[in-house]
Amino acid sequence: MSKGQETIIKTVHQYSKGLIAASDMEKLEEIARDYCYVKNQVYQRYGGIYGLPKIYPGYTVQNEMTRSGLRKRLGLPAAYFYCAIFDALGDVKSQWSYARGRVEKNIRNHPNLSPEERHYLRFIMKQSQCFEAVMCRKAPQIEGNWQEKYESLRAEVDGHKMEQYLRRQMRKHLQKIHTDTLDGFSVTVKGYRYGEHGIYLSTKQKRNRVFIPLTDGNQYERQLHISINPDEGKVRIDVPIEIRTRSRENYCNEIGLAVGMREMFVTDKGNVYGGKYGVYQTALTEYVREGQACYRRNRHNNPGRKKYYTGKKRLEAALHSYVNAEINRMLKIEKPRIIYIPKLPPVPVAGVNRRINYSVGMWQRGYVRSRLAQKCRECTIELVEVFGKDISKVCSRCGGTGGKDEEDFICRSCGLVLSKKQNAAQNARNRGRVNLGSL
Ligand SMILES: [Zn+2]
Repeated sequence: MSKGQETIIKTVHQYSKGLIAASDMEKLEEIARDYCYVKNQVYQRYGGIYGLPKIYPGYTVQNEMTRSGLRKRLGLPAAYFYCAIFDALGDVKSQWSYARGRVEKNIRNHPNLSPEERHYLRFIMKQSQCFEAVMCRKAPQIEGNWQEKYESLRAEVDGHKMEQYLRRQMRKHLQKIHTDTLDGFSVTVKGYRYGEHGIYLSTKQKRNRVFIPLTDGNQYERQLHISINPDEGKVRIDVPIEIRTRSRENYCNEIGLAVGMREMFVTDKGNVYGGKYGVYQTALTEYVREGQACYRRNRHNNPGRKKYYTGKKRLEAALHSYVNAEINRMLKIEKPRIIYIPKLPPVPVAGVNRRINYSVGMWQRGYVRSRLAQKCRECTIELVEVFGKDISKVCSRCGGTGGKDEEDFICRSCGLVLSKKQNAAQNARNRGRVNLGSL
C-alpha cells in the first residue's frame, strides 16, 4: 500500500429478485426469532454490572454460551448463533462506554466532590483493571507501580464511600438492553454459499438451505447481514467491504466551507454547491409535517401509514442522491487536499425545541456531514472541524465585527462587503489554518 492510503469500511447492498416464497420466508423468520432470543440472553446475562469482567475481549461469554447448551436446544446453526452473541456483545460494550461517558461528566460537574475525590474517581475510571475490581466489589490488584499510586490516592479520601458512589452511578446509567427486532440477522461465511445467481442460506432444518435469487451476480466471502421484509417478500443483504482510499495528486487546495440550510455549501471563493438543497429539504419537511398532522387528525380511524412512508422514502432518496451528487461535484471542481468546516453547534436538550421541521433539518444536516466525511475518507482529503462560534459575525479580512443585511456581511471596521456565507467560509479557512500552524 502506498503512502497516504488506508482502507475504510463501506456497506454495499444486494437485493433479492422476485418474491420470496412464504414457506422460505418463514424459515428466515424462524432464524431471526432465535437470533433475537440469543441476543436477549446475552444482554440479560452479561449486560449488568457483574458482566463487565467477562465482556472484554468476549471469549468467556462465547465459551459460557456454548456450554449453556442453548444452541442445541434451539437447533440454531453456529453460523448464526455466534454472530448473535458478538452482535449483542457489541451492544453491551457500547452501553458501557455510553454509561462511562455520562458518569465521567457527572463527576466533573458534581458540586460537592473535593479535588482529591474527583482525582481518585477519575483514576479508577481510567485504569481498567481497577475499574473492573471496583465494579465487582473486589480489591484491585493492579500491575506495577499503579498499585502504589492507587493506594496513595485512596488514602486521601473515603474510599468505600467513593466506590459506592461510582457503582451507584454506573448502575443508574447502564441501561437494560432488550431487543424485539425480528427484521434480520448476521451470518458467517460457513452459513451461506453463492451460486446460480443467488445465495443459499443454512436453515434450522438440517441439509435444507433456502435459496434466494439475487439481482446481481456478486459474491462475497465475509460476514453478511440479512435483512428480511416478510410483508413484501423481499430480502436485502448488507455487505461490509473494505475499500482502499484513493489519493489524488492534483488535489492540493485548502478550502473553507460554510454549511447552510438553503445552500448546502458555499466555499471561501464564493462557489455554491447544493444550491437547491433548501428546496429538497423543504419538500421533505412539509411532507412530514403534513403527514403527522393528518395522522393525528384521523388517528381514531386507524389510517394505514404505508402510503405516507413510501412518499417520505421517495423524497428522502431524492434529497440524498442530490446531496451525494453535489458533494462529488464540489470535490471534483475544488480539488481540495484539506477542507475546513465549522463545527455543528451543540444539539439543544431534547424537549426544548421539538418542532418537526427543526428535527428533520438537524437530522438531514447530520446526513450531509456524514456523507462529506465518508467521501473525504475515500479520497484521503483531510476534513478539519473548526471552532464555529461567531463565525458569521466577524470579518474575515480584519476580524472586526460587522452587521448583516439580507445577503451580505458588512464590516464596521474595514468596510468589507461579502456574501454572508462566503465570509463565514473564509473565516473557517482562516481559523483552520491558524490552528494547524500552531500545532
Ligand atoms: Zn473588516
